[in-house]
Amino acid sequence: MKLSEVIGHQEIKDRLAELLTADRLPHAMMILGPEGSGGLPLALAIAQNLVCERRSGKKEDDGGLFAATSMFGDPAPVVNTEPLSDACGECPACVKAAKFIHPDIHYTFPVVTMEGKNAPPVSADYITQWRKALTENPYMSAVDWLQQLTDKNKQGNITVNECHEIIKRITLKSYESKYKVQIIWMAEYLREAGNTLLKVIEEPPDDTIFILVVENIEQVLNTIISRTQLVKLPAIEDVDLASYLLTQFEITDKIALRIARISDGNINAAVEYAGGAEHQSDALLREWLSLCLRIKAAQAPEPSVKLFEFVENIAKIGRENQKIFLKYFLWFLRESNLIAMGLTSEKLEGSELGFAQKLATVLDPETTDRLNKLINKVHYYIERNTNPKIIFMSTSFKIASILKKEEVVYDSYDT
Ligand SMILES: [Zn+2]
Repeated sequence: MKLSEVIGHQEIKDRLAELLTADRLPHAMMILGPEGSGGLPLALAIAQNLVCERRSGKKEDDGGLFAATSMFGDPAPVVNTEPLSDACGECPACVKAAKFIHPDIHYTFPVVTMEGKNAPPVSADYITQWRKALTENPYMSAVDWLQQLTDKNKQGNITVNECHEIIKRITLKSYESKYKVQIIWMAEYLREAGNTLLKVIEEPPDDTIFILVVENIEQVLNTIISRTQLVKLPAIEDVDLASYLLTQFEITDKIALRIARISDGNINAAVEYAGGAEHQSDALLREWLSLCLRIKAAQAPEPSVKLFEFVENIAKIGRENQKIFLKYFLWFLRESNLIAMGLTSEKLEGSELGFAQKLATVLDPETTDRLNKLINKVHYYIERNTNPKIIFMSTSFKIASILKKEEVVYDSYDT
């Protein structure tokens, strides 16, 4: 991956490019960013930049790539010797890096014990799956990754055995490039095993670069944190996320920006929304809430024909789209609540803002809290394949009760 292929984060990429050009990259970095912000892609881009033959000016020592003075006395090809500010993407090293098979780029990531194998697992056991997963989505979450390894609910781990493998391989000489790069993705999974690495992270062998990628720094040993240079990655900015979506989906600028706004800078959420029914979520929500408000007595509800139709329709859009719709509801509630508290929502505009202002008039902290809990619970049940017709119908009555500040009638899906 090239730096230019990493979505957003221009300032950070520029700074890293400068450090790479000056050959002053710290020997141990910790990239810290929330899920879907691109910590791993950034690590992959740094690694590729470190091994790229044109970027590192390999031409100086062996004449390498551009030394081909013609045997027949033709003038030598004109070569641009300006240092590149990004990996070239074309040299043999870049090609290997992009396929995740460069021998000097090493990957460590959480794994689970293999079926029928007692030995503690190491990352190499899963390297084929790893390459495939990275090819499909370098922005994947740890949960997505672990689900590809096992359908059982096993916790992932970076084992002490893997730490010993790391020490072994970085002590060896590099194969093809000047640098050896060790990426440790989701370094929080090291847990106590991280102690094994303290010495090599503090004083790695020459030309060895450690890049740790972390989402939850509080789960990383302090002794590791203090030995690395922190690169803090914020969530991807709305405009960057929106322009990425426009390259991937046939949607309008307006929809792309809207999706970006509700995704909280998480590329995976944005892609899911853009590929799903998110475009209609605001209309659906408006319809649903107004139907709920028309339920007269929530304690002894009588669903209207329209509510029946609504529930039938929403049952048809499928589980993934229902989840997106509920996520949208939660996001919209949060934004409306800001308005209810006398603040402004920076993410809403037009008719959506008008609707939020109306909803805000009936929101108080308790109502918001009850709705929030309810919708989270519905999301939980939808995820677990509960019958959508039953759950959306009974949720409609609950929403009516909450908005009318009544006691909610409890039923089977309350816990
Ligand atoms: Zn290259």
